[in-house]
This record gives sequence, structure tokens and C-alpha cells, in this order.
Amino acid sequence: MEKSIFERLIKEVPKTELHLHIEGSLEPDLMWKLAEKNHVALPYQNIDEIKKAYNFSNLQEFLDVYYQGASVLCDEDDFFELMWQYLLVCKQQNIVHTEIMFDPQTHTHRGVGFEVFMTGFAKAIKKANEELGISVFLIMCFLRHLSEQDAMETLKQAEPFYNMITAIGLDSSELNNPPEKFKRVFAEAKELGFKCVAHAGEEGPAQYVWQAIRSLSVDRIDHGVRSIEDAKLIAYLKHHQIPMTVCPLSNVRLCVFDDMKQHNILALLEEGLLVTVNADDPSYFGGYLNENFTAMFTSLRLSKAELVQLIKNGFEGSFLSKAQIQKWTRQIDDIAASI
Ligand SMILES: [Zn+2]
Repeated sequence: MEKSIFERLIKEVPKTELHLHIEGSLEPDLMWKLAEKNHVALPYQNIDEIKKAYNFSNLQEFLDVYYQGASVLCDEDDFFELMWQYLLVCKQQNIVHTEIMFDPQTHTHRGVGFEVFMTGFAKAIKKANEELGISVFLIMCFLRHLSEQDAMETLKQAEPFYNMITAIGLDSSELNNPPEKFKRVFAEAKELGFKCVAHAGEEGPAQYVWQAIRSLSVDRIDHGVRSIEDAKLIAYLKHHQIPMTVCPLSNVRLCVFDDMKQHNILALLEEGLLVTVNADDPSYFGGYLNENFTAMFTSLRLSKAELVQLIKNGFEGSFLSKAQIQKWTRQIDDIAASI
């Protein structure tokens, strides 16, 4: 595919994002601004030092910086600003629907309650619906390095805001925190009518993907790239068309793959899996959605058909209604045919 064709497609075709942690979209400038406003002491002297601190080499080192960054988010306006900044990027990048993850325990554990962040998020989401024409679903994630009991309490605390939440997720340190640990809380969430997703098969083995499917009954796998180590799992994912939210730049940044040329996303697509492209924690991993597509175009010889399929998969794998999915995929086909 010629570069000019790629650039037009990325610009003109409507897209989704299904794996985006809102706390991971906190840019160094906003972190600095909010730290000053809220008098939060950071171990950095200036914005450049924050940028240097993003030079981590594995998931745990990243998480340490990430949780520290989240400490600058204190009041409703801060959470509004965080969400609004990301939604403005969605507008720039032609993302028309996004399913955003948030980590309540990162905030409740430091004394910031649900009513603070949910109210801030709600205002930004309403503004985006009205002014930018973007639809937003929220995914409430549990931190898997904490106990299931803690997750259960978090699910209860969220009760006044259930109507704002579409799905429950599982994130943070994967190794030694298998999906099985959260079996009961996910069963409870399903019972309440929530969709379920879980990070699995990123740093953890293919076995964790099986566990997410069998023990948590997930509707979607976040990452899942290590599924390729298990042929039976690949066949299962293909047969059931379980969506996978792959995050190429994140995987390279956290050394799941040595470099983008080694990434297996196109191999997974070739197998017939419902893989999608997403940014994960864009301010920490070197780019938003379009930068992920650009890195794939540069390093993986992405074809036009593959690009269009990946974008359509983003709608197929979303929690939008069948009618909405059909409307968007038809529109994608029409635009792609004209480019
Ligand atoms: Zn993630």
C-alpha cells in the first residue's frame, strides 16, 4: 500500500478504540500542571524529568511510574480534564466510539471517592457526545495485584454508578496474578449484567487466556498475543470469534516483542482471529491509535485489506449494538472503496 493511501484511510475511515486506560493518557504536561495546582510533591524537578521517568523496561517498572502519576488527580475537574484531553485526541484521530478503562482502586485507596472521578468522567463524556459526536462506554477494571475481596468491595462501592458502566475488566501486574483469583467477583459482575473483559496473555502465558475464558467467562481478551503459543487456544479463539484488543506500541515498549518487526498481530489476523488495534496507555507508550497503525505500516508492510479488516474488527469486537456495528462497517466499506 502506498503511503498516501495509508494516510487517507487512517484519516477518513471512522475507528474505535477498545483498550485504553484513561489514567494512562495522562500527558507529562497535565501531570505537572495538576501537581502544582493540587500541591502534590512529585520526585521530578520539571516536565523533562517526568518524560525521562517514562524510560521503563517492563510492566512492573511502568506501573510504578503510572501509579505515581495518578496521584496528581484529586478533584472532579482533574478527572474531567483527563477524560476531555483524551476525547479531543479521539476527535483528531477520527475515533467515533471508544470503550475506556478506569482503575477505581488507584483513586479510592488514596481517599478519592467514586463520586469525584465518576462525576468528572460523566461531564466530559456528555460534552463529547454532544459536541464531538463520539460515543463512550466505560470499563471498570480491578487491579489484579490486590485481593479479590478488595475487588468485591470496589464492585459494591460502584453501585450508584452502575448505569454509567458497561463492562468489568482486570488489569495491572499479570504474572503471579492469574484470572482464576477473581472468579467470584466476575461471576457477581456477570450476574449484575455487566460485560466482562480481562488482560491475559500479555506477559502471562497462554494458560491465563484459557483461564480468562473458562473461569471468568470474558466477552473479550485484552492483549492475548501469547495465545499463539497454544494451537488449541488459537483454534478456540477463531471458532468463537472472541475479540482481542492488541496494543502494538505497548507490547514493544514493555518488551513483549523485541521490536515492531517481530510483532505477531498480522499472523493472528491471518489465522482468522478477531484482533483489533489499540493504544493501551498512550502517553507512556509513545503514541495514540493512529501512531500504532503508523508503526505497523512502517514495520509490518500492512496491506490495505489488512488495515480495513483491523478497523472493522474494532467495531465487531465492541459492545455497540448489532445495528450500529452494521452501520459503521458499511460506511467503512464505502469509504475504503473510494480510496
Ligand atoms: Zn492495558
